[in-house]
Amino acid sequence: MQRKKIVAGNWKMNKTLPEAEALVKEVMQAETKASVTKIFFPPFPFLVTVNNHLHNNSRDFFCGAQNCSDKESGAYTGEVATPAIASTGTSYVLVGHSERRTLFHETAALLKNKIDSCLQHMLIPVYCIGEVLQEREANKHFSVVERQLEESLFHLSAEAIRKCVVAYEPVWAIGTGKTATAEEAGEMHSFIRERIAHKYNKETADSISILYGGSCNAQNAKELFGTKDIDGGLIGGASLKAADFVTIINSF
Ligand code: PEP
Repeated sequence: MQRKKIVAGNWKMNKTLPEAEALVKEVMQAETKASVTKIFFPPFPFLVTVNNHLHNNSRDFFCGAQNCSDKESGAYTGEVATPAIASTGTSYVLVGHSERRTLFHETAALLKNKIDSCLQHMLIPVYCIGEVLQEREANKHFSVVERQLEESLFHLSAEAIRKCVVAYEPVWAIGTGKTATAEEAGEMHSFIRERIAHKYNKETADSISILYGGSCNAQNAKELFGTKDIDGGLIGGASLKAADFVTIINSF
């Protein structure tokens, strides 16, 4: 079965509205492979504008939100609910990015609820998992990732999990310039797919795109994307420059 190849740009807390529009336009005007699903994850205030650019132009570009609330609506000042996100034409949501887990103390139970809320509103969760450096050094990286899958994702039915995307992002590689080797990333991706097959079945595991994230750039994307079980990338810093992002997309 052909899995979706995805290159997603997580802009984090960067860009103004004019800068966001310029970046989207520049990427969309470039030659990029139509077989690759491209996703922009801008800050919340730019979702409508970015979506407007996409819908007028293309079917292989999508917009995603960097976060969502697990609540439907109500007195939660500053939060953004999944029905509101979906109503902007947005298709994807990052859930459990390591910065949210660490800086905003997001728990496994909260992430589980966020994933449920995304699926209820036809949004595709991109569930981010990965170990910190001490865990890798203590050879605990496989058990950490397995626990993250079990705690927040494996409550789903086979039908529901097939709608999700997983992003393996070793925390020690995010924003550090220190990329996992293709071998390190590949063995973790195969492990994740094997765990999904064990919990569900091989067909389900083979249908889920698993992205690599962590200092993926225009130089190393080709080797990473050429590795078995790596279906694309979640790109932070290198997604902020159109030329680099386009090179990464065309690394497939
Ligand atoms: C990220 O924030 O998801 C990420 C992968 O960042 P960077 O590419 O900058 O390491």
